[in-house]
Amino acid sequence: MIRRAVFLDRDGVINRAKVINGKPHPPSCLAELEILSDVPEALHALHKADFRLIVVTNQPDVARGAQRRQEVEAIHKALFELLPLDEIRVCYHDDADCCHCRKPKPGLLFEAASMAHLDLTSCFMVGDRYRDIEAGQAAGCKTVFIDYGYDEKQPTTYSIKVKSLGQAAQWICAYQGEREWTQSKI
Ligand SMILES: [Mg+2]
Ligand SMILES: [Zn+2]
Repeated sequence: MIRRAVFLDRDGVINRAKVINGKPHPPSCLAELEILSDVPEALHALHKADFRLIVVTNQPDVARGAQRRQEVEAIHKALFELLPLDEIRVCYHDDADCCHCRKPKPGLLFEAASMAHLDLTSCFMVGDRYRDIEAGQAAGCKTVFIDYGYDEKQPTTYSIKVKSLGQAAQWICAYQGEREWTQSKI
């Protein structure tokens, strides 16, 4: 039974984020969805390395009335068709809702872990914003920061900083290989 997962933020990690005034935004409809070029290969490598692949995404534009939930769901249907994803977990709230799932809170990760009996200390969180990294840390995961140099609050600590999901997957697979080799020696 697989007890480990890679948690993936969506916008800027799986698909291209629209950067406006230095800050990333989601595609507003399916026609704007563009999967980043090295993502399919990276996800297949992680899947082969026995990780569950779980997208955890904040979509507050729905609560803000700037996007319809149907559009978000159409994007997720397409992602499931195109990529080897196991789950997509969404927070549709905004700060005022005080929910437990809006990153940097780790609620989406805890829910996924309890459903699939994951060992969170064997899991990784990959994201492009401080909210992703803090959620991963709060859940006890290793964290991979994809740094695009956005003009906003930056995460202060993370396990490693990279430029793409392809690089993240290489690091995770190497880290996991090292951990298994060390454990086999004990
Ligand atoms: Mg993002
Ligand atoms: Zn929420």
